[in-house]
Amino acid sequence: QAKTLGRSRYEFFNVELRMRLQRRLRLEQDLRDAVRRGRLWAAYQPVVDLRTNETVAVEGLLRWTHPVHGPVSPTEFIPMAEESDLINLLGAHVLRETTKEVAARRADGIDVDLKINLSTRQLDDASLVLAIEAALASTGLPPSALCLEITESALMRDAALAGETLAALRNLGVRLAIDDFGTGYSSLAQLHKLTLDTLKIDRSFVTGLGESADAEAIVTSIIAMAHAVNLTVVAEGVETEKQLEVLKALDCDQAQGYYFGKPQPAHKLWP
Ligand code: C2E
Ligand code: MG
Ligand code: MG
Ligand code: MG
Repeated sequence: QAKTLGRSRYEFFNVELRMRLQRRLRLEQDLRDAVRRGRLWAAYQPVVDLRTNETVAVEGLLRWTHPVHGPVSPTEFIPMAEESDLINLLGAHVLRETTKEVAARRADGIDVDLKINLSTRQLDDASLVLAIEAALASTGLPPSALCLEITESALMRDAALAGETLAALRNLGVRLAIDDFGTGYSSLAQLHKLTLDTLKIDRSFVTGLGESADAEAIVTSIIAMAHAVNLTVVAEGVETEKQLEVLKALDCDQAQGYYFGKPQPAHKLWP
């Protein structure tokens, strides 16, 4: 009895695993194809200054509409790309497209900075610094208007490796941000050593504001800590007026979230 049960369970997992592997292999192939054909594009989400209520920056977020499956989330295809060389192609694409777009908007008088996400696999790539320099030079975007976001968990995992490239990037004059803060395990000392400019509080803590005393206590201490080492604090995932009120009361500098605007194609954000 136990044996047949064990066997059928094994076959069930076997079938499911095979299906997952097949979807994944196919997606990976399709992603490679999409990169080659230029089918990936960036959506832009406003980042708002909480003192002036003005949009001071936009975050460029990669989008992929699969011809059969429809939109595939970056939380699915970025990790996939990170396991191969694809991440460097994707990264180069986002860099070129978004710097070009934002530089053009700035020339039209829309005074916003650009934030893009970097995977630590890209910090590995010797040509990253050159690619960024080239993108800035060819678009005329000032280095100080570009902010590179790296997630806390990735930074802590690859801290040693990241150090040198981050120093080179800082020398270019671009800004650096730690993304999804609170989900990793960095210490104040580590943060200080990285000499970042911005800290983004992960959405999971922002969601509970106004409802959970714990969330408020955590956000309060993150903001105090960040300000103590002169970091600008951005709250991610603000969806309600209540969350916004709490963040203002806690002296948070900037915020981003569906309350202000969802990520959109450039022509919708700036018609
Ligand atoms: P992230 O950098 O932390 O970006 C914020 C994510 O939260 C985005 O998800 C955004 O659409 C979502 N978001 C913003 N406001 C709200 C809100 O009010 N409520 C909710 N529920 N969600 C909100 P998205 O676009 O799916 O991207 C997911 C992650 O994928 C990003 O997280 C980033 O880590 C990664 N990613 C996206 N584009 C790139 C890229 O070009 N390169 C790299 N390396 N990673 C990227
Ligand atoms: Mg980000
Ligand atoms: Mg984030
Ligand atoms: Mg996040």
